[in-house]
Amino acid sequence: MNKKKNILLRPPVKTKYAYEKLRCCKNCHNYTALGEEKCTVCGKSALLPVQDLARRAAKRSLRSDLLLILLLTLISIVFSPTFQFIAISAASGIALMILFLVVRRKALESRISIELSKMFVRDRDRIAAGLVRNLEIAAAQDNEARSYELMREVAVIIRNDHIRKLQILLLQSLVLRKDMDLELEPLLLEHFDPELASYIGELAKIKRELIKDRTFQYVIKYEQQISAMEHGDDILAGVAGAAVRMKRYVQAYAGFLARHARKLPKDRFLRLFRIVTENPGLNWGALQAETARIYEEKYQWDADFQQIKPRSNIHDV
Ligand SMILES: [Zn+2]
Repeated sequence: MNKKKNILLRPPVKTKYAYEKLRCCKNCHNYTALGEEKCTVCGKSALLPVQDLARRAAKRSLRSDLLLILLLTLISIVFSPTFQFIAISAASGIALMILFLVVRRKALESRISIELSKMFVRDRDRIAAGLVRNLEIAAAQDNEARSYELMREVAVIIRNDHIRKLQILLLQSLVLRKDMDLELEPLLLEHFDPELASYIGELAKIKRELIKDRTFQYVIKYEQQISAMEHGDDILAGVAGAAVRMKRYVQAYAGFLARHARKLPKDRFLRLFRIVTENPGLNWGALQAETARIYEEKYQWDADFQQIKPRSNIHDV
């Protein structure tokens, strides 16, 4: 096995929308999702967030709407046959302009999102090319943590298995720690992947709160392949240990837990035993008999297990 590196991961800068990470060069019109100061294509400091560009375009198009109203008003005044018509045209033109200025604020926001979507459709290929360039820059870093951080920025915008796999490989080259800003669900792949399985196994040890429904489903789907791995049974036991966090998980994945309950460490088994014993009215399937068997074999005389009794009221522990 390769030697893992002990490097700190910095937390990502969070934005409300993924596209807010995207910037476009005013000079050469190339896109980037990384935080560089100068455009990596033309070298100019001309990178602007896409929202700013959309805002500019929206203001421009609102300004031309206003000019259009002004023009129509002038035309109707010029072609008015009588003074009365001139007054009516001028009054309605002014009323329209006032109305326009009043709703402008609201109109601007919706025009910005229209401009943004126009930009994303029109520049699809340019954005994709920019992100590929970003990935190349990320991969060329001589520091794995920095590579991962940069890739994480790109992965906010595009999610595909190729990028996920690169991220998993980078993560697997680092020593993972509890205080790192780690993620799991966004990295889940479609197919079985031993590196991903090992990563899940490590998270089960240091950050089991990251293991949720989609991960349980992934692990159950590829249970056989994981079991065939060198430390596969430890990974499965770790994931089972994460499932006993909540009664809902125990219920949903009772079959999986029944298969791996025997390998749970005492504190995790105690929790499982308590959930199953205190809720005798629920349908636990094979899990009920299996927990009873493990209890009798290993923990019958253990003081920690003595106060657990069946209970009729149901709530999470
Ligand atoms: Zn440029």
